[in-house]
Amino acid sequence: MGAQVINGKLISDTIREEVKVEAAKLQQQGIVPGLAVVLVGEDPASKVYVGSKEKACQQLGFYSEVHRLGADTTEQQLLALIDKLNNQASINGILVQLPLPKHINEKAVIDAIRVDKDVDGFHPESVGNLVIGDDSLLPCTPAGVIELIKRSGTEISGKHAVIIGRSNIVGKPVAMLLLRENATVSICHSRTANLKEIASQADIVVAAIGKPNAIDRSYIKPGAVVIDVGINRLPDGKLVGDVHYEDCLETAGAITPVPGGVGPMTITMLMQNTLKAAKKAHGLSV
Ligand code: NDP
Repeated sequence: MGAQVINGKLISDTIREEVKVEAAKLQQQGIVPGLAVVLVGEDPASKVYVGSKEKACQQLGFYSEVHRLGADTTEQQLLALIDKLNNQASINGILVQLPLPKHINEKAVIDAIRVDKDVDGFHPESVGNLVIGDDSLLPCTPAGVIELIKRSGTEISGKHAVIIGRSNIVGKPVAMLLLRENATVSICHSRTANLKEIASQADIVVAAIGKPNAIDRSYIKPGAVVIDVGINRLPDGKLVGDVHYEDCLETAGAITPVPGGVGPMTITMLMQNTLKAAKKAHGLSV
């Protein structure tokens, strides 16, 4: 039979179109969602991500500001900029591109972002709201994972979901979101005993470990939905996920490719968060 391939590019394009329509409606009321992206230093991958975020804002008719700061920027200077953006009415979302140079305390910077403008969802209060189940801004990649599962037609409620990886930015929030969707959730990590045994009982597997092709079909129950968050570059330049895609293609019920699966969703969810923050800032329901 073979798995249904979950087309992240297509789903992402559909959501962007929805966001664009909503943004146009807001514009008629004089509201333009605004995103500020802050980049410190010259990290080449970060520069590419920031460029893509700027482009997405243009595409959707959002206002955007990109602050490109030198690698020698002090923590105090960065905190002063965040304070300014926190108080700037035209800005609804603030994203500080990570990683930051080593001399800057990342936690202090994330903590300084106003929670209602925390479109990355990394502020401790946003994390707390996510756990409690309050309607907060959700972290982008985990929210994208949930959208992919839902929009591929999978019912999450009552399913056993196994998350492989427990990072603060992917594994833990994905687990919390799946729990909110009434899945029965197991979180696995590098110390998990019998990982294969646990994973192969799952109806939904989310892999976020950062190890190329580590999850083959022996980890997958026939028919399971497999979401691959991993992005790994092989020595020959090829991009692969944490899941061995070709090997799992016949066993899985549905599977995301890399590239073209979770990847395209992250910036789209950032745009959705910015729209949501703009609506909330103007007292509109989201
Ligand atoms: P981290 O390195 O922060 O976390 C990896 C997690 O995987 C850890 O919890 C670790 O366990 C666990 N792990 C590592 N090796 C194994 C193993 N062999 N078996 C079981 N568990 C293991 O990674 P991130 O969460 O930041 O990222 C994961 C992947 O997702 C990466 O490939 C990254 O590039 C990608 N990514 C993609 C994004 C996107 O937009 N699509 C966004 C963010 C990340 P332990 O805690 O015990 O060390």
